[in-house]
Amino acid sequence: DAERLRAALLGMDGSGYGRYRSLTGRWRFDGFELAVEHVQADPYAPPSRLSLEVPASVAGFDAGLWRDPVRARALADLLARRAAEALAGSRFRVDAGGQEVLARSACAVREGAVRLRFAVELPGHGRRIAGREAARQLCELLPAAVASSLRAQALPAEEVRAFADTVSDSVAAREQLAERGLVAFVADGSVLPRRSGVSDLPLTGPGAVPFAAPEPLRVELELPHRGRVAGMGVPEGITLIVGGGFHGKSTLLHALERGVYDHVPGDGRELVVTRADAVKIRAEEGRRVERTDISAFVGELPSGADTRDFRTDNASGSTSQAAAIVEAVEAGARVLLVDEDTTATNLMIRDARMQALVAPDREPLTPFVDLVRPLRRSHGVSCVLVMGASGDYFDVADQVVLLDAYRPHDVTAAARALAAPRDDAPFPAVAHRAPDPGSISAQARGRRRIKGRGTDALVFGETEIDLRALEQLVDPSQVPGLGLALTALVRRGHLDGHRTLAAALDLLDAELAEGPDALDDGYLGDFAPPRRHDTAAALNRLRTLRVARQSR
Ligand code: ADP
Ligand code: MG
Repeated sequence: DAERLRAALLGMDGSGYGRYRSLTGRWRFDGFELAVEHVQADPYAPPSRLSLEVPASVAGFDAGLWRDPVRARALADLLARRAAEALAGSRFRVDAGGQEVLARSACAVREGAVRLRFAVELPGHGRRIAGREAARQLCELLPAAVASSLRAQALPAEEVRAFADTVSDSVAAREQLAERGLVAFVADGSVLPRRSGVSDLPLTGPGAVPFAAPEPLRVELELPHRGRVAGMGVPEGITLIVGGGFHGKSTLLHALERGVYDHVPGDGRELVVTRADAVKIRAEEGRRVERTDISAFVGELPSGADTRDFRTDNASGSTSQAAAIVEAVEAGARVLLVDEDTTATNLMIRDARMQALVAPDREPLTPFVDLVRPLRRSHGVSCVLVMGASGDYFDVADQVVLLDAYRPHDVTAAARALAAPRDDAPFPAVAHRAPDPGSISAQARGRRRIKGRGTDALVFGETEIDLRALEQLVDPSQVPGLGLALTALVRRGHLDGHRTLAAALDLLDAELAEGPDALDDGYLGDFAPPRRHDTAAALNRLRTLRVARQSR
């Protein structure tokens, strides 16, 4: 078959580009089967899509590497990286990850068999087929890369095992959090700072201060491979991170944001883990809000708008942040991560002198400091909050961590000595909304209906969804994943105009438990399934979204 493919390609040399289409189908190679799934129409069109499968007997990976789904995901992630490296500089494109280890469409290991999905730019001289070059790519480079990257015998066994062990320790640590009453864990020795604002690699050298847990928050976890690991446990409740500017507060919070994902060995954050239901909250001026109940935060507006059923095409800093909080809880978040750097000050604090000057009945906003404890009491929502600029939160914090030259100290007692009593307003029931599927599906049509722009935006049919405020999106492939998740919610009838968004996300999560293929509907590209919280956040930012029903 491989020889037949070579002959076919050489025979096409110089013919019209359209003849490439005759390659569509399956081709048996020595050690794998290649499927040509979609052939690009011309050299300038998006690349052609291929997949290949290496049977378990040829791949030769030990069952200990794939019988457990967590390890199979890790192995698949590693193999995509190795295949991408082996094919670097060729016309093939394999979607491999960065510092996070994600399930992705590019590679899957099932019962020991390896499936790789990838793209190729079929070569042309103008609009004519470059048959020799195509034969070299498909019949020489590709088989060589498969042999050197997708087989156990070609990879250092120790490295493969360490990769899987790292991921399974991280998953085990995350799974222990809830039963230990923790929302996050940061192992001693973790390296949190990154090399630069544009590099996600760890900071190296003597300037990088490794993490060391402060005494009262020190806990030990027992992990399947690393054994006993000590570090800082962030308890449920309200945790304040304070300290002078540039002392590492935001760096710690960013690491917690990403702790919902697993990291590659050597990242420095392999054992920084955060509960899966943790969501970063921020202000986002100008965003759309559709029928969200923000009345806990915003009372009577000068415009007279009803804040229990609030909609706007152009939210302010404070209303956008209030909406983000309520929407996150609606979608199932039970841990909120908040950084003073990206919040609306007027939603966070109001000091005593301002309260003395502006009469309460002229101030529609209830600051978060008065709501964070009620949110915990009535909805079980914890909060990790970076706040170096105001001591108001001392009144409500369960624990206070001071960062001093990147080193954490527990200063809860000292902060409590400075605290004042504070009356809590009750936090009302969170509104559950049933989105109108018609307002979503109408947007999802068109040929290139789903396309990502980095992690900044999702082109969704005729509209574009601004994702810049979704700080827990870490991989460009999650963005088409968001588009596919939104489409799946509608196409499968999960969103039917009656079912709430949270219930629809439950249905999709159950399907995704089977793996990323649950989102695949013949999409001609790579994707990684997003978290439910990001799917909800993307939907909430769809400018055409309409909510059919709101209930409590
Ligand atoms: P803050 O939010 O307290 O103002 P940042 O988290 O933004 O501070 O950190 C300020 C700078 O210090 C950043 O350049 C960051 O990379 C660096 N930094 C943070 N933590 C560490 C650390 N543990 N070791 C070395 N540098 C660090
Ligand atoms: Mg900061």
